[in-house]
Amino acid sequence: MQLLIHAGAGNVSRDSDLGQLEPQMLEGLKAALETGYAILRAGGSSLDAVTEVVACMEDNPLFNAGRGSVLSREGRVEMDAAVMDGRGRQAGAVACVGNVRNPVRAARCVMERSPHVLLVGAGAEAFARDSGCAIVSPHYFVTPEMYAYWSSLRGPGKPELEISAGGIASKHGTVGAVALDLHGNVAAATSTGGMTNKIAGRVGDAPIPGAGTYACNRSVAVSFTGTGEHILRTAAGHQLAALIEHKGLSVPDAMTVLLAELTAIGAEVGIIAIGPQGGWCIDFNTTGMLRGSVDASGNIVTAMFIDGAVRRLAG
Ligand code: ASP
Repeated sequence: MQLLIHAGAGNVSRDSDLGQLEPQMLEGLKAALETGYAILRAGGSSLDAVTEVVACMEDNPLFNAGRGSVLSREGRVEMDAAVMDGRGRQAGAVACVGNVRNPVRAARCVMERSPHVLLVGAGAEAFARDSGCAIVSPHYFVTPEMYAYWSSLRGPGKPELEISAGGIASKHGTVGAVALDLHGNVAAATSTGGMTNKIAGRVGDAPIPGAGTYACNRSVAVSFTGTGEHILRTAAGHQLAALIEHKGLSVPDAMTVLLAELTAIGAEVGIIAIGPQGGWCIDFNTTGMLRGSVDASGNIVTAMFIDGAVRRLAG
């Protein structure tokens, strides 16, 4: 039994404004890990654990998901989320939703109460409402900090469209969780506001099974953060699974191969992954990644920067 989480990766320094928020952000990670650990320890499913952990981080305004999401070119919040269950590769996702308090819950409803995998925009919002998900005003998601950040990127002399990754380089980070439960099942969930200044209607990697989110009991559960277009066009989540299932690599070795490929094409990424046999890995190619893990004994580890020479965490 093990739970891994992330809340974004990016090139950020310890003495930056964002770096100064490290204690609060690590506190947010710890609260999420405790939520998930309680579920897993009581015999709950990995699917329940990742859903609740991601919902907990969506409610935290420090992270780029749910409240605190980044703003699009028009100054709106458009969120993407997905869940995937390794048991039968069931998946559910929503994209471009602007009024669903917890997009990950809507994604789970799509998986469990519809014949579909991915719903977008107004249709996804209507489905979420009809399924009993909490609906809030679009203003709920916009924090003063994020509005100020978005405003700072606009104005005379600034490029009309300067897209920046929603990672912690641009103040906040996508959130995700992967878990292995006591029954041997893995699951993954990811939720994000995407990238600052994105064009309306842009969908990132997070809600696409096989890209930013993937889970299969034959190989791995994985969740990504980083430059979504790179993760999308390399089908990165499925690629990790294929390296494990078809090439026989361990989770950490498969991560080494995938990270090298993503780095070579210019991606900035952070990855968390766990296999059904318990092998796991957290790695990234940026200066920082908000990351955490909790094991069967309840040992919690959280980090934001590379501590000493230790970047990768693996087991
Ligand atoms: N991967 C997310 C996206 O492209 C952004 C991020 O993780 O920072 O939507």
